[in-house]
Amino acid sequence: MKIILIGPPGVGKGTEAKRLATLFDIPHISTGDMFRAMFDEDTELAKIAKAHINRGELVPDDLTNAMVIERLQEPDAKKGFLFDGYPRNIVQAKALDDFLSNQGETMDAVLYIDADIELITERIAGRRVCKSCGAVYHVNYKKPKVDGVCDQCQGVLYQRKDDMEATVRRRLHIYHDVTAPIIDYYKHQQGFHAIDGSGNIEETHQKVMDAIQ
Ligand code: AMP
Repeated sequence: MKIILIGPPGVGKGTEAKRLATLFDIPHISTGDMFRAMFDEDTELAKIAKAHINRGELVPDDLTNAMVIERLQEPDAKKGFLFDGYPRNIVQAKALDDFLSNQGETMDAVLYIDADIELITERIAGRRVCKSCGAVYHVNYKKPKVDGVCDQCQGVLYQRKDDMEATVRRRLHIYHDVTAPIIDYYKHQQGFHAIDGSGNIEETHQKVMDAIQ
């Protein structure tokens, strides 16, 4: 199973991606999570990624594509994978297509989840993430059992710097200008489905499962 989840920041891709990856037993490849995992590393890539992310801008394509292609060559990706947050523009979509076609493969499903901008902005503003395992919570819609503490690993929950208001505006702007055009790129391919992500986590999951089936 090879799946891409596309959609604006905050629409619930990460939550749904974790669920699908567990269900289908395939690796969840979130480029955002991969970059965030580097934040404490003292490498050139980490510095560049952090600077771009904290400004709400995309990390340069050559670095992102190289990181993804390397990840796809790890043994666990042989059985399939689920992309969350990649590809994020046409250059990345083409790089992924080139890599897959060289292997004689194509994507099975491209799921485009969307919701109103007001809803997305509210979801991002209330989002809290576990510093240790990356699990995602929301101050209203998905509260942890103990305030500020991850249910799964007892890690500390924090608000991502790029989830703060000024940066969110920049990210949404970039999504609209640069990422949304890939919907046209995938729209006519087999396996493309548009899904309404304005319901709760369960409702969106059900719609995603219907689309996959
Ligand atoms: P996300 O966790 O998907 O919301 O991504 C957080 C941030 O990581 C984005 O705003 C970008 O700065 C960076 N990022 C994640 N995925 C990509 C990508 N495919 N291309 C470039 N930058 C990315």
